[in-house]
Amino acid sequence: MLLTGYTKRISRPECNPSSEAVYCIARLNEDVAEALPYLNAVLHGMEYFREPPEVVFRLQGRSIKVGAREIAINRLADEDEADRALVWWKDKINEVWEKREGIVPCYEGKVRPRLIDVLRLLPKTNCKKCGQPTCMVFAAQAVEGACGVAQCPDLSTENREKLSLYLAGFSFD
Ligand code: SF4
Repeated sequence: MLLTGYTKRISRPECNPSSEAVYCIARLNEDVAEALPYLNAVLHGMEYFREPPEVVFRLQGRSIKVGAREIAINRLADEDEADRALVWWKDKINEVWEKREGIVPCYEGKVRPRLIDVLRLLPKTNCKKCGQPTCMVFAAQAVEGACGVAQCPDLSTENREKLSLYLAGFSFD
């Protein structure tokens, strides 16, 4: 087993101390740097940094940073959810490490859609029908995979098709 355990710290986002969501940081007992390219290959990290080694994942609307000695997870409902998430990441790191001989390590983040390419296909009326305050915010959500063409009712048929095809070329897992 590569990772035996961690020390957990829970806090609220500094920019919004009254937020219901919590932020969790786990200080790892062992250095897991060598497992990161394998974890990245299996879970398709959004960004991969070599120095210091760190992978950023986006899963279920939250951001997870896994570094050599630390895991940071945002937008957790409460401490119980943080505990479940940390157990999952610890198990996943150990599982990937044990299976590493059959995994091709990956040192790159996922290619993401470009915000400008999404924005230019939107109506740019800022009508808010999608639930976002502006088309720019919608585009920023779309490049993260958090919303898609179905939420913008004012897209022209042509641009709806173009945007669907464009976003279909990326994986948001
Ligand atoms: S519904 Fe479409 S046009 Fe309206 S704000 Fe959202 S993205 Fe822009």
